[in-house]
Amino acid sequence: MTQVNYALRKSDFRGVELVETALPVCQGDDVVIAPRYVGLCGTDLNILRGGRSDSAQILGHEGVAEVVQAGDNVRILSVGDWVVLNPVNRTNQDEVLGHSFDGLFQSRMKIENIEQRQWMYELIPEVLRSRVGALIEPLATAVYSYELIGKPDRDSNVVIFGDGPVALLNLVLLWLRGVTNITLVHGSSRRVDFAKSLGIESTRYVNYSSSNLTENIVESLYGCPADVTLICTGPNSVEKCVSVSLKYTRSGGLVNLIASAMHPVISVKSGDLNVAAIRRMNVCGQVYGNGSEAFTTAEGSVVNFVGQRGTSSSHIRESIDLISRYTGVFRRFVTSRIDFRTAASFINDRVEKTVSSSREFSDMKMILVNDS
Ligand SMILES: [Zn+2]
Repeated sequence: MTQVNYALRKSDFRGVELVETALPVCQGDDVVIAPRYVGLCGTDLNILRGGRSDSAQILGHEGVAEVVQAGDNVRILSVGDWVVLNPVNRTNQDEVLGHSFDGLFQSRMKIENIEQRQWMYELIPEVLRSRVGALIEPLATAVYSYELIGKPDRDSNVVIFGDGPVALLNLVLLWLRGVTNITLVHGSSRRVDFAKSLGIESTRYVNYSSSNLTENIVESLYGCPADVTLICTGPNSVEKCVSVSLKYTRSGGLVNLIASAMHPVISVKSGDLNVAAIRRMNVCGQVYGNGSEAFTTAEGSVVNFVGQRGTSSSHIRESIDLISRYTGVFRRFVTSRIDFRTAASFINDRVEKTVSSSREFSDMKMILVNDS
């Protein structure tokens, strides 16, 4: 039993540092969880390189945890239960684990008044009490995306921008759902090798840095317009991805802004697009406002934009089901496992690599393991 709480706290400049804090005190309505397998996400790296100012001092929003203490009044969870965390509060989308309040990069975490915070977790089966459990939340966002883009079928043309775990989990999910016409627009790092190693042979690859990007995407679609585009890149690339997507998407087609942009509003040829507002229209499976925004291109066709935040409990449950069935495929996404207490230097190394946009980068998910 640990006597201290270890936490990876945001450093003043960049990255994280390991600190010891007091163990949380479990009151009657609370539970204390031990985050066991926690993923490091692109958003975390973006925060840790100083790209965003979220209030949480301890990050971590993708992970599975064991309940190690439960208050006397708690009926819904018991010591020994395992849960996956669902980071976004569906009734207040600004309440986000590891963003607006402290997250999973710590050896113990208290959830106060758990009966009021049932949105925060789902129980998981025994087979997912392992590193692959940390993929439940990111895959659930892909399940959500699949729903928002209207469940494309095998005849749909889909373009995915990005080569990180989110992009490739969307690729795998679409493939499992029978979509084969997929173009992956990847960066210049070795991550494309991982994508190719997934063995989804029908995937076509286009390099984002190529000088004729639009033409190359059109060529990959055999001259047909695209039905759907998923933008899963870092925030710096979103504006360019949107403006390119407007050139090859059919009228009435759809673009899902899975990534957030550098600035809330981006400018493209025929006008401005409020990416931040669009991303707030679909939250944890609930629709706010129109749910999408129709944008008229310079050529007069209409492209619909959607965005998403969080996941619902049914997305999480579907993700649990998929990972339980195709464990081997998803386990491959875990390319490094690091002991929680030695993780700071690895995380900081990654932060530096994203700052310098290193091309040596080939990893997918880094999972922090905490067995104390
Ligand atoms: Zn994430």
